[in-house]
Amino acid sequence: MEQHYSFFQGVERNFDKAAKYTRFEAGILEQIKACNSIYKMKFPVKIGDKIEVIEAYRVQHSHHKLPCKGGIRYSIDVNQDEVMALAALMTYKCAIVNVPFGGGKGGIKINPKNYTVFELEKITRRYASELVKKNFIGPGIDVPAPDYGTGGREMSWIVDTYASLKPGEVDALACITGKPVTQGGVNGRTEATGLGIYYGIREACGIEDDMKALGLTTGIKGKRVVVQGLGNVGYHAAKFFYDNGAIIVGLAEYEGGIYNANGLALYDVVAHRKSTGSILGFPGATDLKNSLETLEMDCDILIPAALENVVNASNADRIKAKIIGEGANGPLTPEADEILGKKGVMIIPDMYLNAGGVTVSYFEWLKNLSHVRFGRMDKRFSENQNATILSTVESLTGKKVTDSERRQIQHGPDEVDLVYSGLEDTMIGSYHEIRDQWIKLEKKVDLRTAAFVVAINKVGVAYEELGIFP
Ligand code: GLU
Repeated sequence: MEQHYSFFQGVERNFDKAAKYTRFEAGILEQIKACNSIYKMKFPVKIGDKIEVIEAYRVQHSHHKLPCKGGIRYSIDVNQDEVMALAALMTYKCAIVNVPFGGGKGGIKINPKNYTVFELEKITRRYASELVKKNFIGPGIDVPAPDYGTGGREMSWIVDTYASLKPGEVDALACITGKPVTQGGVNGRTEATGLGIYYGIREACGIEDDMKALGLTTGIKGKRVVVQGLGNVGYHAAKFFYDNGAIIVGLAEYEGGIYNANGLALYDVVAHRKSTGSILGFPGATDLKNSLETLEMDCDILIPAALENVVNASNADRIKAKIIGEGANGPLTPEADEILGKKGVMIIPDMYLNAGGVTVSYFEWLKNLSHVRFGRMDKRFSENQNATILSTVESLTGKKVTDSERRQIQHGPDEVDLVYSGLEDTMIGSYHEIRDQWIKLEKKVDLRTAAFVVAINKVGVAYEELGIFP
C-alpha cells in the first residue's frame, strides 16, 4: 500500500470520509476544504558574507472566522503542500475546541540549527515585515504562533517588528501568540499543548465502556506510555503523564530512542540528554538506534509528538499501543488509520488532542485585547469572600480548618489557574462533543471521522450564516 498522495490530499481524504455524514451541499464542502489565500515569498538575507534567498510561506486556509490562526514552523522540509495541510488542520482544530478563528499556518524553509541567533533574528524579522507588507498579519487578520522549530524568542522578534511598523496600534501585542510572559504572553501557554494532550487522553481513559473494549482499566495511573519527540509538545505531554502516575516506558528523539519496560525517570533522561547531547546511553534502558522503532515498542498509549506521517503503511501493523494520542499534526497517514482501525486501536485525533496550544493562544489574544492580566480584577475579591465564608462556617460549626486547608480554600485564582481551568474545561467538553458524534454514528467510524463531522458542521453553518451561498 504505497502512499501516492500528498499531506494536503491526505487531509482532504479524511475530510471526504466525514463529509458524507453531514448535510451540506457540494459547494459548501468545496469552499470549506479550499485554502483561501496562499502567500509564497522569497526574500534575501545576508548570512555571513553571502546573500541567501529564503523561501517562506503563510497560508490562510479559512476566512469563515477572523483572524486566521496557526503557528509558524522552521524546518528544511517546509513546502507549500505541508503548510496548506497544516493550515487546513488548524481550521478544523479551532472549530472543534470552539475557538473563533479560521485556520492558518506559516513556514520558513530553513534548518534553524544552521544559523546563529543573530541570523535567525534577521530571517524572522524580515519574514514578519513581508507579512506586514502584504497585510498577512494583524490582531484581526492573521495571528501566528509557535510551531515546530520556533518558540517564544521568535514570537518576540515578530511582535517587535510588527509594533515598530505599526506605531500607535494599541492592540499590536495581539498580532501573535506564544510570546514570553514578559512580552505580553499568558502564563501557561508554554506547556498548554502538552497539558491539553494529557487532559484529552485522561478524559478518554476515564470512560469505562471504551477502556473495556480496549482491554484496559480506566485512569492514567500505571498506564505504559511511549512518547516520540522531546520538544515543547512531547516533553510537556510526557511530564504531565509522568507527574500523574503513568509509566513512561519509551522516549524517542531524532538521534534514537530508549526503552525500559519498568519505566524511565523522565527528569533524569532530560538531564542525561542535556549533559551528553543524546537520549541514548541512559542507564538501565535499551537503546534503539532507529528512532522510529520506539513507536513499535510495547505500551498502552503511544504519543507521536514530533512530525507528520511517522506512522504509515510501512510500520502501522507493528504498532502495539492500544491508544494513539496524536500530539503532532498529522502523524498518522490515512493508510495507517485503516490498518490500526482494523486492529481496534483507539486513535485520538490531532485536531482535537493537540488543540491545547491554540486554546491557550486564544486566551493570550483575549488578554492582549483586553489589556489586563486574567485574575487582576477578581483574585482579591474571591479571597476576601472565601475568607468570610470560611470564618462563618467555622463560627457556626465551632470547628477550625488546618492552615493548609485554609490556604487552599481562600486562594483566589492566579492567571495560570484560570488558564489551566479554561483549558481543562475545553478539552473535556470537546472530547464529549466528538464522542457523542461517534455514538450518533453508531461507532461505525473512527474518532477522527467523528471529529471531522463535528468540525465540518460548525464551519459549514458559519459559511451558511455568512450568506455567501444564497
Ligand atoms: N502551532 C500550534 C498548532 O499547531 C499552535 C497554534 C496557535 O497557537 O495558534 O496547533
